[in-house]
Amino acid sequence: MRLLKAFWIIPLLSLLWFRSAPNTYSELQRWMEPNTKKIHVLATTKMCASLVEKIGAKRVHVWTLIDEDLDPHSYQLVKGDREKFRRADLIVANGLHLEHGRSLNNLLKQSKTLFLGDRIMEQSPELFLPMDEGIDPHFWMDVSLFSRSVPLIVEALQQKDPAHSEEYALRGGALLLELDQLDHKIRVRMSKIPLDKRYLVTSHDAFQYFARRYLVDNGALGDFKEHFFAPEGISPDGQIGALDIQKIIHHVVKNKVLVVFAESNISKDSLNKILEACHVQGVELRLSKTDLYADSMGEESYIKMMDHNSKVIQQELFPTSWDE
Ligand SMILES: [Zn+2]
Repeated sequence: MRLLKAFWIIPLLSLLWFRSAPNTYSELQRWMEPNTKKIHVLATTKMCASLVEKIGAKRVHVWTLIDEDLDPHSYQLVKGDREKFRRADLIVANGLHLEHGRSLNNLLKQSKTLFLGDRIMEQSPELFLPMDEGIDPHFWMDVSLFSRSVPLIVEALQQKDPAHSEEYALRGGALLLELDQLDHKIRVRMSKIPLDKRYLVTSHDAFQYFARRYLVDNGALGDFKEHFFAPEGISPDGQIGALDIQKIIHHVVKNKVLVVFAESNISKDSLNKILEACHVQGVELRLSKTDLYADSMGEESYIKMMDHNSKVIQQELFPTSWDE
């Protein structure tokens, strides 16, 4: 009889385990269901989704289109994506041409999308950095700049759900305060690194805004371009050539750079090529022990992502200043 009970318990436990394990497919099914109680938001990136979740809380159900380690620069629509657009009550995108995969870009433009970066740029174009005949889309790397998205999201949610306008405004206000504290924390962390050690070398050009805001104190301490270098250009799918390697070795030697930072969603092949070339020329250079998050969030929130990045940069560039 006891044996019989055990036979029942094992499948029951495994059934419970499977039910509690995350299941992306069933989560998507739930998001696709008609539910008039929540605003269904489709966000292109995790960073955008994170802000919407903070402001909307229990009133929103957010789905991220470009999740995990997928590249937002080149993402193209896959089967089922058009249904997500049809289901969404609100679509939020980073904008500034980050999502430039043709099929996605066309659909975003045809839909009533809230392009955060473009809307902020309409108000304050002087805050954005040029890049490759366009605008650098990685503006989430400057917390003070990305936080300008908050009022836009509050307004969009209020329009969809006027009955709870006050709630969205309150949570938006609280989030702005949190982001302001985060911005301050990162500035303090970077200020502990001596200026002559504040050189950030990463795989692709995602950290220009970070360098401007945090490495040179908005330009007060010099030109941020001298403190940031990325051999692969704006998009992670770029290829590195011999000339790029020579440029980077020149930068490394000139500024006594000791570490290059890998990014979580990008192959380390290019960085390894650089390390090898440096080794051949007798230049001492190593890879960071921990990856940075650039185009994919990794952590569970935008705040944790930026906290992680600044922590890793401080620990790698000037370990003795680490006191947390
Ligand atoms: Zn990027």
